[in-house]
Amino acid sequence: PTSICWFRRDLRLADHPALVAAVEAARADGSDVVPLYVIDPALWRTAGANRLAYLAASLRALDRSVGGRLVVRHGDAVDVVPAVAREVGAREVHVSASHEPYGRRRDRATESALAADGASLRSIGSPYAVSPGRVRKADGEPYQVFTPFRGAWLDHGWRDPAPHPRSVPWATLPSDGVPDAPETGADLPEAGEAAARARWREFLDDGLAGYASGRDLPAHDDTSRLSVHLRWGEIHPRTLLADLAEVGRSAGRGSGAPSSDDVATFRSQLAWRDFHADVLHHHPSATARSLRAVLPDDAWATGTDEEERLAVWAAGRTGYPLVDAGMRQLVATGWMHNRVRMVVASFLVKDLHVRWQRGAEHFMAHLVDGDIAQNQLNWQWVAGTGRDAAPYFRVFNPVTQGLRFDPDGEYVRRWVPELRHLDGTAAHEPWKVGPSLFASDDSYPERVVDHAVERRATLDDLHRGRG
Ligand code: FAD
Repeated sequence: PTSICWFRRDLRLADHPALVAAVEAARADGSDVVPLYVIDPALWRTAGANRLAYLAASLRALDRSVGGRLVVRHGDAVDVVPAVAREVGAREVHVSASHEPYGRRRDRATESALAADGASLRSIGSPYAVSPGRVRKADGEPYQVFTPFRGAWLDHGWRDPAPHPRSVPWATLPSDGVPDAPETGADLPEAGEAAARARWREFLDDGLAGYASGRDLPAHDDTSRLSVHLRWGEIHPRTLLADLAEVGRSAGRGSGAPSSDDVATFRSQLAWRDFHADVLHHHPSATARSLRAVLPDDAWATGTDEEERLAVWAAGRTGYPLVDAGMRQLVATGWMHNRVRMVVASFLVKDLHVRWQRGAEHFMAHLVDGDIAQNQLNWQWVAGTGRDAAPYFRVFNPVTQGLRFDPDGEYVRRWVPELRHLDGTAAHEPWKVGPSLFASDDSYPERVVDHAVERRATLDDLHRGRG
């Protein structure tokens, strides 16, 4: 019988253990492999136009790499996958494991449905270097704090990349085709495995050297931009870690080569990705609920007040240039620099007193790399409600962050045209220029709140919350 490789968040052929397993199973009995993707209306409806447009492009790229044989079917996977298995007489469906709550439930239900037909769901590998739930303390408990997690994660290590399957006998089956995604006005990156690999090579050659210091400067574009490719599994973190180990061996040799600090810092970012997935694995409710309540219930804006604050923030019209630049970059490109994500998230929660869940929802509507584990847990981290007790007392100052990480004001001028005429650091403190700047309705807005006052209010709320 034919075997099925059911693609989900692993839209690639390289370093893909589940695909290797599917190919081996097919070869063992001289049959072929069905490359299957299921368009699940529940996910398609909620994904946001940018992610759908990207996913559609990535599926078209995957289809090309399997010689136009990608079988796309629409419907609930719990029905569709067993139906395809019956259609081709497959006894095995190979997947990389899902770890987010929805995917876990879906896979359990699909597994039972397949079992009823005498078929099985074979899960091998995951979208992470180390599968969530694996890295544990000596007493078997999960880690709560990032730094010790990272130490144990490094000690645990990861497999070598899986071999690239050669001349796969892809099956030919009717396909519903890749649906048209809704229109998006955003300027999205190129999708697909080849684009992901090209981006990674370019970063290794040109971006990794200096990453440790440059990654915090939003104007400079010094980060890898791999989040979207990792999100859709067009490249696996194991591949990146294997290449990094190679680079690490010659780190610091020769001018312009990445230093060991650059390599370690980049590896650490991949550890964050695994850490957040691990936290979600142990606390599935973290997608919606704070892991720790740190503020009293009456600390939050409500009703119209909350809606108005959210709207001003989302539109990039808070009057704080770094915040506004970030929010506009998000809408224009479906991506925002990490430093700025932290600043805008802190601003919403701690200056505008809007719950993190509302901000996370807006991010998920726009981010092309939007991922439930990374997004919700990063929001919780900034809000101070996560497992890793980042000090809640830390309230990012949007002005000093701007002056420090965008010292020439270049990032702000790029995304906030109303401030383009202001030189250097003046772009971060337009109110110092005088009232003329705020003269008309379409000019730059005045500050919606006073940071110093709101920071104090948050710290007072926190003391009350601690009782
Ligand atoms: P690089 O600096 O090149 O980092 C390399 C890779 O490391 C990234 O591609 C990413 O996979 C990983 N990484 C880096 N920083 C983090 C981090 N803080 N947490 C987890 N992984 C990290 N990342 C997402 O992938 N999806 C999200 O939905 C998401 N939402 C976020 C929401 C908030 C409020 C914050 C503060 C951060 C969020 N991040 C999210 C993390 C981070 O901002 C992005 O991964 C990063 O900006 C992507 O750009 P890059 O690939 O150029 O990063």
